[in-house]
Formats: sequence, C-alpha cells, structure tokens
Amino acid sequence: MKKISNILGECAGHRPVFSFEFYPPKNEAGEEQLFLSIAELGKLRPDFVSVTYGAGGSTRERTVRWVEEIQQRHGITTMAHYTSIGASRGEVRAMLDQLSTSGVQNIIALRGDWPQDQAGYTPPVDGFRYGSELIAFIRSERPEFCLAGGCYPEKHPEAASAEADLANLKRKADAGADFLVSQLFFDNELYFSFLDRARAAGIRCPILPGIMPVGNYKQIARITQMAGCRIPEDLVHRLEACGEDREKVFQTSLEYSTRQCRQLLERGVPGIHFYTLNQSKLTMEILKAIR
Ligand code: FAD
Repeated sequence: MKKISNILGECAGHRPVFSFEFYPPKNEAGEEQLFLSIAELGKLRPDFVSVTYGAGGSTRERTVRWVEEIQQRHGITTMAHYTSIGASRGEVRAMLDQLSTSGVQNIIALRGDWPQDQAGYTPPVDGFRYGSELIAFIRSERPEFCLAGGCYPEKHPEAASAEADLANLKRKADAGADFLVSQLFFDNELYFSFLDRARAAGIRCPILPGIMPVGNYKQIARITQMAGCRIPEDLVHRLEACGEDREKVFQTSLEYSTRQCRQLLERGVPGIHFYTLNQSKLTMEILKAIR
C-alpha cells in the first residue's frame, strides 16, 4: 500500500487524486451495502479510500476490520480515521500499534467531537485537547505514518472566528500534517477563499476539497447543520421542488455535484474526496462525468 503523500506528490500537476470515504456499518444489511459499494466504486480505481472512526472509539474494531478488508481484498490504498477524544496516550499508542500491524500507512488524525452528555465525561489527564496535539504526538512517536488532518472552509463550529480557526490550522500543519481534507461544502467560493487565506497564513500542504453528493434533502439538511456548513438557496429550492420523487432528486444532485466538481478541477484542486455515505451510484455517475 502506498503513502497518500507520495500519491499526491506523483500526481501534482499531472492529474487529480480521487478518494472515497466510507463508514463502518452497524448491522448486516449495512455491511452488505458497503460490500456492494466498495465493489462498484473500486472499479473506478480510486487513489485511496478512507474509513471513519466512531465517536469515542465506538467503531474501533470495525474501522480496523474494514481497513484490512479493503486493503487486502481490493488492494486499494486506505486511510484510517482516528479520533482521540477520551483516549489516553497509552491508548493512542496501542491503536497505532494495531494499525501498523494491519498494514495501515495513512491516518487522518482528528480530535473528534465532545460527547453530547459532557456532564458525565472526564477527559484523560494525559489525553489530547486538539487535533494538532494528536498529530504532533503521532509524528514524534511514529514518524513512518503519512498523516492528514481535517480543515473547515466555513470555520469549525466551535471556533470563535475564522481567523482563530486558521491560526489553529497552521498549528496543525506545523505539527506535521502531510495534507488536509476539508469538511464538506457546496459553494466553491468558500473553499477557494479559505484556500487563499490558508496559503497567506503559510499553510503549504495539499488541501483536498471534500464533496458530499446529496442523496436526499432531509439527510443533507441534518448533516450540514451538524457540520456548520451552508446549503445554497438555489440548491434548497431545486431539491424542494423535487418533492418525494427520488429520480428527480438523483438527477438534481448529479447535475449540481458534477458542476461543482468540474469547477473545482478547472481551478486546479489537487483532487476530490467524496463523502459517499456508503452509497455508490451517485458518486460513480459524478466521477464518470468529470474524469
Ligand atoms: P481541531 O483541529 O482540534 O479543532 C477543533 C476546534 O478547536 C476548532 O474550533 C479549532 O479552531 C480549535 N483549536 C484547535 N487548536 C487549538 C488551540 N491550540 N487552541 C485553541 N483552540 C484550538 N469525526 C469522527 O468522530 N470520526 C471521523 O472519522 C471523522 N472524520 C472526519 C474527517 C474530516 C475530513 C473532517 C473535516 C472531520 C471529521 N470528523 C470526524 C469530525 C471531527 O472529529 C470534528 O469536526 C471535531 O470537532 C474536530 O476535530 P479536528 O481534529 O478537526 O479539530
């Protein structure tokens, strides 16, 4: 398996890098769906795929199992997500050992979200407060891993201001992130103005835009609210006009996301990371249209 930093380096200036994000399902039906999606999307030969990590380590074993499955059975370079909320340094070390044994070379290291019920939550004394601290720790303990971090074109919901968030992102880059993957967004201008500000702040590493094709309006409304990002009015109106007609929603989403991705590529992004929500059809059609 390759390091994603090497893939980005080899592709820079030649062609964009495409990647897909999956989450580890909770039940058999979800597993079946994911097997199908990986088989379908695998045919498009993504440069890498990533597998998310449940809050507080709730999917730890499943994340590792799916990473192993994708690497070994499909031969696709994989990036494991890892969040450090609630973990002590010893636990992070143990996870790094486990990932290394599983042949993982790429990790996106995140702080994770605070538990909803913070009342009963006591952070470990030697835990990590921010993603940048986690990245610095992994970089010093296990320099062999390729490390990514998350970034937020519309600012992280907890940040007091976009400027403060950017200064914190610079800490993350300085701590040793090889590349960054953005939170989803629907308005490319937000990504490009963030990119300009990041470059002006001295952040030099590649910043992959994260795109989520809209499968259904209610789902995307819930996700964007949690992630603190906006859905453009015209997209809302167009989706609302589709009502319950799934085929119309599919076509509207396909058209919107294809245009959004084309514009990103025309303006020279290093690649596109698709948040697939374990569905293959829409992402496949978009990728076929833009490649
Ligand atoms: P951080 O970089 O730690 O930032 C969090 C907040 O703290 C920001 O407001 C930042 O400005 C502030 N901050 C940072 N450093 C400092 C400092 N030194 N001083 C003061 N303030 C500071 N969540 C999951 O549970 N599982 C996943 O698999 C997962 N995958 C993700 C993938 C991507 C690409 C992205 C963008 C997010 C993902 N998330 C995932 C969500 C993520 O865990 C949350 O957004 C989380 O709240 C922030 O994690 P972070 O490491 O990006 O935050």
